[in-house]
Amino acid sequence: MVKIHRVKLFKIFLLFIISSTLLFSGVNTLKKVEIEKGELRLEFNNFLPKKQIKHFALKNPPREVFDFKNTRLSNKNIAKNIKNVKIAQYKSNIVRVVVSSHEPYSCTPYKPILSLKTYHIPLPKGRNALPAKRYKKPTVKVKEKTKKIKKIQKVKKMITSPLRSHKSELIVIDAGHGGHDTGAMVGGKKEKDLVLMIAKRLEKQLKKRGHPVYMTRTRDRFLKLPQRTRIADKKNAVVFISIHANSVPKRKRNKIQGVETFFLQNTRDARSQRIAARENKSVLKGTNKLSRSVILDSVLSGPKIVQSNKLAIDVHRRMMTNLRSRYRGVKDGGVRHAPFWVLVGASRPSILVEVGYISHPKERKRLFMPRYQELIAKGIAEGVDNYLDNRKKEIDF
Ligand SMILES: [Zn+2]
Repeated sequence: MVKIHRVKLFKIFLLFIISSTLLFSGVNTLKKVEIEKGELRLEFNNFLPKKQIKHFALKNPPREVFDFKNTRLSNKNIAKNIKNVKIAQYKSNIVRVVVSSHEPYSCTPYKPILSLKTYHIPLPKGRNALPAKRYKKPTVKVKEKTKKIKKIQKVKKMITSPLRSHKSELIVIDAGHGGHDTGAMVGGKKEKDLVLMIAKRLEKQLKKRGHPVYMTRTRDRFLKLPQRTRIADKKNAVVFISIHANSVPKRKRNKIQGVETFFLQNTRDARSQRIAARENKSVLKGTNKLSRSVILDSVLSGPKIVQSNKLAIDVHRRMMTNLRSRYRGVKDGGVRHAPFWVLVGASRPSILVEVGYISHPKERKRLFMPRYQELIAKGIAEGVDNYLDNRKKEIDF
């Protein structure tokens, strides 16, 4: 046993106190602000604990407000040239970030998993983005005026509703498999049940955003693959979304996980081919190879592929953002293309979402959590909205 001198012990104690204050209550600095991929990205010089961030929304006009406690601005003019964003030293130890928008929007900020010192705030998009002008506090007169204008707008909205033309266009959601076709089955859990749960959540999310929705199945029943796209054609849907979950053989179970979004296209990628083969199994029975390739070829070259690719990118991005805002280690399987039979014959932008691997123990557990499912559904719905907004702009200009 070694006797430690009292002074030495005191020094160690003092050092501990100093270092812990530095670690946990040291003042943070917002050192950099930039806009990337439609997000406001804030960079701090220290680790940013979640409890130091307060996020709330204000009305009239709609604003998203973020207070960063225990934080100082490195430079007063840090957001000088950024539209609709104000950043200020609100209190001596609070930095306030205010994002203005035309209408309230679903703002899901997040901390990227790998960088502990940054914070990303998605900005409003499209027509929701405000023109670059300063917001003045309304006087009483102005307030009355805006009240009147709002009343008129409300009446107008009722007459011309839905405001955005794409809001009246139908979206078909296809929950994969069903009935005797269970899809992947691992650990007592079935793909057909999981995808129906997520499809129902997606239905709610889309309806909430004003989209009419049609479900290829709402209960546990079997549908042939061509029937599914035929429904989309008959209903003249604007978008077709098929929902599935992935699975790999036992020996790879702990290794492979993640979210993948597919659009229809032939591929040389072996992994995509394998996934497509598994999902296509129920339809390929009895079809000869020649007629299969003839049908595939006829649909693989349409302009729909470009639109499907865009839709896939938008949906995938929003799913990842939503999931990663709440869960660590969600693997990004990316946007890929594969010859999925269910997407063949759909004459509209069509994607197939593999929401995760039910063969992966941890991911399977998450996939059956309501909160996780909700984030997937919300992500897909936001992606569809993004896609339709952008497409409308393409048509308009
Ligand atoms: Zn499937």
